[in-house]
Amino acid sequence: MDLAALIRNVPDFPKPGIQFKDITTLLKSGPALQQVVDGWKERYAGKNITAIVGADARGFIFGGALAYAMGLPFIPARKKGKLPAETIGEEFDLEYGADCIEMHVDALGAGDRVVLVDDLLATGGTMAAIATLVQRLGAEIADVAFVIELTTLNGRAKLAGLPVHSLTEFEVEE
Ligand code: AMP
Repeated sequence: MDLAALIRNVPDFPKPGIQFKDITTLLKSGPALQQVVDGWKERYAGKNITAIVGADARGFIFGGALAYAMGLPFIPARKKGKLPAETIGEEFDLEYGADCIEMHVDALGAGDRVVLVDDLLATGGTMAAIATLVQRLGAEIADVAFVIELTTLNGRAKLAGLPVHSLTEFEVEE
């Protein structure tokens, strides 16, 4: 199935100039969601993965499904203030201002080997912050998986040194 054809482009959302890649149209297809999850499951089978880390919020949809399919733990990386127990946080720059992503201090540790999952790679700021948190907790990153990569924003450069895997690619002007 052509996954790219199922991703809806919404111009000027949430603000003028942004080409928003809407994955709800992909999620409306059961077989498409299975294709995403089954493809990753095959890719990571036998690779000694101990947990799947999903990025708030759409990474929870795909990462949660992958964790279930593989019978692995799911670890959420959440926006600041959402996790109830002791956390560590990492700030990252947005176009205007900064944001912060957090994980529980006991979410992962040495000996963990994880796959990081989000719906979309744009500048890479979000996932670079999550990768730093995961490494601060002592875990190893086996792969970073996205459904969509906006290649023109060169997010891979920000994730330098980490293996990046994306299922679809788009060129956008932002
Ligand atoms: P970045 O940190 O710049 O790589 O941005 C990635 C995060 O922002 C992901 O969690 C995406 O869901 C969201 N995002 C950024 N740009 C877009 C876009 N053009 N369409 C949909 N989501 C986006």
